[in-house]
Amino acid sequence: MDGHSSCGKSTMAKALAAKTGYTYIDTGAMYRAVTLFCIEKGLVGNDGTIKVQELESLLPEISISFGKDADGKQYTILNGRNVEKEIRGMEVSSKVSPVSALPFVREAMVAQQRIMGGKGAVVMDGRDIGTTVFPQAELKIFVTARDDVRARRRYDEMVMKGENPVYEEVLENVRQRDYIDSHREVSPLRQADDAIVLDNSDMTMEQQDEWLMQHYLNATR
Ligand code: C5P
Repeated sequence: MDGHSSCGKSTMAKALAAKTGYTYIDTGAMYRAVTLFCIEKGLVGNDGTIKVQELESLLPEISISFGKDADGKQYTILNGRNVEKEIRGMEVSSKVSPVSALPFVREAMVAQQRIMGGKGAVVMDGRDIGTTVFPQAELKIFVTARDDVRARRRYDEMVMKGENPVYEEVLENVRQRDYIDSHREVSPLRQADDAIVLDNSDMTMEQQDEWLMQHYLNATR
């Protein structure tokens, strides 16, 4: 599943994985974890400038994996530490797209994603899964929604988590990430030719889940 930022891909992907018994792999979390590493090591400035050579030499030190808590909720582990909360904040969100645009970062993440998904039975979400990571995937979904709808959803999610976001900043971040993700040179965000498009601007969660299940059943029949 690929698509624009904050359009509910991961919620849908998780729900499908839970229903089918597949493994869910959140590739955005991997790029977010690399970005957190950059922030903590002082490798990315506030304007998004990255100390590229330093990052490239430190990349082998970055280990990313996923764990599950007692409720079965997945979390992201960066070098042995649960970073799930930190990687979802605005600081990481505002810097993740330039970090993800670096070819050597993509190469390393894509290699790991292919290993993680190599045995099949995975639901993977991101930006380049259907085009680059698994171009032979049996089912490709490209999810989108109007940007104001996506910003509102993200804003509500942050408020629910007890954060204090500014709506205009959230909207700006959604737009900026879409722009950078779609215009980078390596594996830009784009719909695979054989992907099925879902615009969920005016759909409820239940409608989306049903839509997705139908396409899953068609693809696996
Ligand atoms: O999916 P999520 O919004 O968490 O992804 C965060 C960022 O990671 C995206 O805006 C994009 O810059 C990057 N990303 C990517 N390729 C992927 C998944 C995410 O470049 N497969």
